[in-house]
Amino acid sequence: MLMTRKKKRIVKIGNVSIGGDNPIIVQSMTNTDTNDVKASLNQINELAKRGCEVVRLAVRDASAQKALVEIAKESPLPLVADIHFDYRLAIMALDSGFSALRINPGNILKSENGIIDTSPLDKVAKSLLEHNASVRVGVNSGSIEKDLLQKYGAPCPAALVESALRHVALLEERGVQQIKISLKSSSVLHTIESYRIMNEKSDYPLHLGVTEAGTPLRGAIKSAMGIGSLLMDGIGDTIRVSLTADPVEEIKVAYHILRAAGRRDVGVELISCPTCGRTEIDVIDIANKVDALVQHVKKPLTVAVMGCVVNGPGEAREADIGLAGGRDKGVIFRKGQIVRAVNGEKELLEAFIAELNSIL
Ligand code: SF4
Repeated sequence: MLMTRKKKRIVKIGNVSIGGDNPIIVQSMTNTDTNDVKASLNQINELAKRGCEVVRLAVRDASAQKALVEIAKESPLPLVADIHFDYRLAIMALDSGFSALRINPGNILKSENGIIDTSPLDKVAKSLLEHNASVRVGVNSGSIEKDLLQKYGAPCPAALVESALRHVALLEERGVQQIKISLKSSSVLHTIESYRIMNEKSDYPLHLGVTEAGTPLRGAIKSAMGIGSLLMDGIGDTIRVSLTADPVEEIKVAYHILRAAGRRDVGVELISCPTCGRTEIDVIDIANKVDALVQHVKKPLTVAVMGCVVNGPGEAREADIGLAGGRDKGVIFRKGQIVRAVNGEKELLEAFIAELNSIL
């Protein structure tokens, strides 16, 4: 059963609102050298074309300043700067026009002879408030503090949640409230459990992801399991699928997950039969061609590619448009009703594409 989504407070990343009743936002991260403005902007534009709504860039050192300004000026998407330990880079990114940070406040506190210097964090918090920017606290199983590892014995959901809440408290103490939280583990089960606990404890929007999910097939499956089950539980306000692949692939998988979880009705739902001994046309080839053709479509549509006229129209009764094969011929149907019969496999595909284009 699809659970009602828990309403979280609304956090902005540029002009994109996350939380509340807003759609679940799709994010990705560039894998270009951020200093390479042209390559980074090309990738951001491509991601935007595919439906990415917020994009994160790694900021490694101060040499990126000029590039950050140029990228922020031209980017069609709001930008998040991914910073690890150097607080000055965080301030530099916000001054350059970035809308948000991904930084863990606890990582920028300095400690000398047992005395903790909070001034770097004070400065970042001040900059966040001045720029009306937001921040994501992102804890993963590899970043849990030593004392929590000792307390819990190993990285576990309770340790992830406690660690994240510590970082959040450091921001709250400085007046920062535009906060999102992520709790990522490469273990799908730990990821799910961590977000479930946090969902009960906090009303900050949750950024879902399974970290280091892997190569496209493995990563898509782990992400679908982790992100998908949380979404169905009503948990999650924004998602990032992490794949060892071109980030464009992350966007495709993210929308497949959102559609399958019933959370966003964007793009084409492709129904294709698994093929069997009754199959009389090359369904695998045709389905792959149709899949490639509809990759860019944002209009919500159901498209079916079926191997036989016996079960095809019936099995895909609700499809907006479908194709079912017979021996050297096939039929095209709309909403389960046959509207056209075509001879020849090549001609069938051409006629189907023409029909499909007429409703896009
Ligand atoms: S639609 Fe027809 S060809 Fe495809 S799996 Fe079902 S029975 Fe077999």
